[in-house]
Amino acid sequence: MNASDPNIRPVRAQIRQLDDAAANRIAAGEVVERPASAIKELVENAIDAAAKRIEISYGDGGKTMLRVCDDGYGIAADQLELALSRHATSKIDGSDLMNIHTFGFRGEALPSLGAVGRLTITSRAEGSDGAAMISVNGGRQEPVRPAALSKGTVVELRDLFHATPARLKFLRTDRAEAQAIIGVVKRLAMAEPSIGFTLRDVSGGGEGRIVFRVDPQSGDLFDALHGRLAKILGADFAANALQIDAERDGISITGYASLPTYSRGSAVAQYMFVNGRPVKDKLFYGAIRGAYSDFLHRDRHPALALFLECEPALVDVNVHPAKSEVRFRDPGQARGLIVSALRHALAGAGHRASTTVSDATLGAFRTENRPVAPVYQMEQRPSGMALSRAFAAQQPAFEEATTAFSGRVEQALHEPVADQPLGAARAQIHENYIIAQTPDGMIIVDQHAAHERLVYEKLKRQMADNGVASQALLIPEIVELSPERHAQLLGVAADLAGFGLMIEDFGGTAIAMRETPAILGQVNAAAMVRDICDELADLDQTQTIKDRIEAILSRVACHGSIRSGRIMRAEEMNALLREMEATPHSGQCNHGRPTYVELKLSDIERLFGRT
Ligand code: ADP
Ligand code: MG
Repeated sequence: MNASDPNIRPVRAQIRQLDDAAANRIAAGEVVERPASAIKELVENAIDAAAKRIEISYGDGGKTMLRVCDDGYGIAADQLELALSRHATSKIDGSDLMNIHTFGFRGEALPSLGAVGRLTITSRAEGSDGAAMISVNGGRQEPVRPAALSKGTVVELRDLFHATPARLKFLRTDRAEAQAIIGVVKRLAMAEPSIGFTLRDVSGGGEGRIVFRVDPQSGDLFDALHGRLAKILGADFAANALQIDAERDGISITGYASLPTYSRGSAVAQYMFVNGRPVKDKLFYGAIRGAYSDFLHRDRHPALALFLECEPALVDVNVHPAKSEVRFRDPGQARGLIVSALRHALAGAGHRASTTVSDATLGAFRTENRPVAPVYQMEQRPSGMALSRAFAAQQPAFEEATTAFSGRVEQALHEPVADQPLGAARAQIHENYIIAQTPDGMIIVDQHAAHERLVYEKLKRQMADNGVASQALLIPEIVELSPERHAQLLGVAADLAGFGLMIEDFGGTAIAMRETPAILGQVNAAAMVRDICDELADLDQTQTIKDRIEAILSRVACHGSIRSGRIMRAEEMNALLREMEATPHSGQCNHGRPTYVELKLSDIERLFGRT
């Protein structure tokens, strides 16, 4: 028998009203996905209650315990039961859903949390002479009783999802859940500079360990925000950030955005808020990309914190209970304002687009991939061995190997063009572009992009063989990190060792970098560590191990590459060209940009109107 058997019909059951416990459990499915979402609801409640200081604790990634204490206006004893019933809220009266100025308004969080864990609320309403508490466990409520608390509200949630093992199974590791909690708290802390936040991990018992802490900021709006962002995004960010302040047609945008030179390898440091609510919305990402497109490559991302404010009627934050997406009544207007506010700030900083070649001219340049050897052949080429070896080794050795040729530089530049796909180097211009002559045209190579790709391919090959060869640093580099990055990085220390990167805990939130991949030569360890952290934060857990390794290697390779600005000798340039020919995928850099462009003689003739 199966479902399509015509003799089997679903039995028509009576329509019934679900009881509160069932309704709350269903609502909880939407509101509480993981410990971080519970924290978000509770901290938002504290902010709505005008708290000045909020203390948050979690145990075991929030799975066993979550607690939010605030010094806000509290809940009166005779309202505690009501606070726990569905659709009970003090924030709206239901008459004007288009005009919501608080985080909360659904009246769903507390009953939902009570349905999926052991919830206790202790509170003392402003002006009342005592505190009271109420507990609810798996939807079953206990009577309100007196309690001791001098001010505000403490909400504690234990054993989240203990009654729904299926949900429990979907939670990630304690560390991953803790990361999510930290992310939520930081976002809210950015939006509320005047409120102090303390986040503690109390897994070990006792007072616990402070994971994050910011004191209330004083000063005007921008001063307070700048100070708060310096604490959360780092002093570097604050020093490199431009103030954003624009307003048009009832929408305002304020915040700080980084100079293009302070870009990151991923969008991890982009924080957006609409009417104080943290959002992750495509509209913003697109607008930011658009605003920076003249200044940054597609794969580099500015760091920023932007706060859009408008009449609640102009935006629908009701799209999803977790409320991280928004719907603007006029998305074009919001996008336009963001783009112009950012561009205006960037222009004010004296940075300008450097595109001077017309599209028509650029169109004549080809980026098609030359046929290159399908496998890595460098070691098999007897000719040019010294040069190849110089490339394979570190950069100082590279320099040495080439000085021997210095007497022949002039001559090399006039050597006949052999039948090599990438031709013979003729010049280096603007200290980054190699001009090479091919039998039927010319090639311009971006030396940094090209070399980056070669280093990356080499790292990949070493990885596949016996691991990346490393070299000890004379003096270990000490790098200060944020507490969560510190923990995250140490968590993958063993994996990084496989890349030739030896890091150790250096006490506090610092790490010591002791060894780096030999192939990279001298690197800026702090910058490399920051990039690796970005990559780790950005990595998609569903990516294959291989993809993740490659993503990190690619990031590492960038740090070992010939910088633009380095003067290259003819021999070095030719060695680079030959190695590109011998290396798979060398036609594009690690970020998908071409490493060289080609101009055929016929194209040149076309440019001069000769044909
Ligand atoms: P909502 O926030 O959507 O109103 P909740 O279920 O989160 O719904 O909370 C219900 C009500 O309980 C709130 O409207 C508020 O009156 C009260 N409340 C919750 N948390 C706090 C708190 N930390 N301080 C003061 N009142 C609170
Ligand atoms: Mg709420």
